[in-house]
Amino acid sequence: MKAGIHPAYEEVNVICACGHSFPTRSTHKGDLRVEICSSCHPFFTGRQKLVDTEGRVDRFQKKFAKAREMQAAKKVQVEAKAARKAR
Ligand SMILES: [Zn+2]
Repeated sequence: MKAGIHPAYEEVNVICACGHSFPTRSTHKGDLRVEICSSCHPFFTGRQKLVDTEGRVDRFQKKFAKAREMQAAKKVQVEAKAARKAR
């Protein structure tokens, strides 16, 4: 290795939001904080889990609840119109 051109490659800890942590080596200074790791990611656990970042799932549900309401209201209107025509 050529001296003076390589970044320091030191031992750091990866700390996950689930509480799991493991040591690794990195040029990153200080510990790494992550929100998902191999011991809590659904791919590895096989469990279904919503990975909610900043309430995005909640916002999505709210948005589509409103859309569904509007669709239902529209359907009622269309059915009423059809019923009037049928008479
Ligand atoms: Zn984790």
